Amino acid sequence: MEADLLIHSAAQLLTVAAQGRGPKRGAAMSDLGLIPDGAVAVRGGRIARVGPTAALRATVRAAREVDASGKVVMPGFVDPHTHLVWAGDRADEFERRLAGATYQEIMAAGGGIMSTVRATRAASLAEIVAQSRPRLEAMLAHGTTTAEVKTGYGLTLEDELKLLDAITFLAEEHAVTLVPTFLGAHAIPSEYLGRADAYVDLIVEEMLPTVAHLNYRLALVPDEDDVEEETVNYRPAARFCDVFCDEGAFTVEQARRILTAAKRLGLGLKIHADEFAPLGATRLAVTLRATSADHLVCTPPDQLQALARSTTVGVALPGTPFGLGQGKYMPAREFIAAGGALALATDLNPGTCWCESMPFIIALACRAMRLTPAEAIVAATLNAAHAVGLGQKVGSLERGKEADILILDVPDHRHLAYRFGGNPVQAVFKRGDLVAGSL
Ligand SMILES: [Zn+2]
Repeated sequence: MEADLLIHSAAQLLTVAAQGRGPKRGAAMSDLGLIPDGAVAVRGGRIARVGPTAALRATVRAAREVDASGKVVMPGFVDPHTHLVWAGDRADEFERRLAGATYQEIMAAGGGIMSTVRATRAASLAEIVAQSRPRLEAMLAHGTTTAEVKTGYGLTLEDELKLLDAITFLAEEHAVTLVPTFLGAHAIPSEYLGRADAYVDLIVEEMLPTVAHLNYRLALVPDEDDVEEETVNYRPAARFCDVFCDEGAFTVEQARRILTAAKRLGLGLKIHADEFAPLGATRLAVTLRATSADHLVCTPPDQLQALARSTTVGVALPGTPFGLGQGKYMPAREFIAAGGALALATDLNPGTCWCESMPFIIALACRAMRLTPAEAIVAATLNAAHAVGLGQKVGSLERGKEADILILDVPDHRHLAYRFGGNPVQAVFKRGDLVAGSL
């Protein structure tokens, strides 16, 4: 057969193949679909064939061949939980936390998320795009080819739409596929202090109907001297709705109202569950058949078991307790033992986890949550794709899927977890095109 690209002779080719069966659960999370001396052929931006090098070289004629001898070839990472678009930073809060202040104390004093909300409201779309673009570049350089991105630093209809515009703009100009999530319920804005239910009214009655059905034109190019009109495809602005359900944020009842309204409007559901306090958010995620429940640091055992039996993907964000200097992580071993589908994400955000690197998250997950390297890789690819509703399109090297492929400059997949602090990703292909690194 004819192909555009043949990557061959990989020391290990990780297919993470699932044969369309959904995310890998429990013991199946150890199965990387590893082919020694493996090869992958790409045609028209999609995976055409995968198999042993000898078999593919005998039957495939490719316009371009890449020798991956001594290297690992695997699917691009999917980062299913990021807050990529914001303005400013919170280095001062980081230093205050090191001196003993807690995240909740800083939040109660008007810092935390509201501090980033003030900076983001004050910034123009062009500034937000300019500040977010280097983070997206870093994500791609570390192998992320698909990422979910949340709003949530606007908290007015106008400012949340500005963040959706920023996500749309970055998605149009950049190789990484971005999945937009509306997170108007990220914090109770200070102007609604003591009137949280009134803010929930605003989300349910005004924001959600707009972001779910907003077939909008992007009429801005983030270059302030050269603003011109540019039309993007008409489409719903947000694909998911998320709620930060925790102490000091939204209650379970408020989360239920918001997510039920979002579901009625056709949005997929996500929830920040049990990061600091076990309010019952995981039970809510299971009841509402959310696509994912994220954080799960202090989820009660019965709810963790229920989540493991449900179709909702559990997303662990070990970079966040690490970023906060806390020792408590999601009980991932218990979740996998109960048959759960676990995904990993960075939680990239300015308050608790400014980290663009999925390889670092994998290395951390193996140490802090005792995942095996194979489980962590499955969690960062196939299962993460299912956590953003794209499990049939990306996340594994299987025929017909998009050719999002990494070449790692390591001889064995375990080095991805074994080494940390550097970048093992040598080259990144997106739909068959080399978009980062070099050969
Ligand atoms: Zn988050």
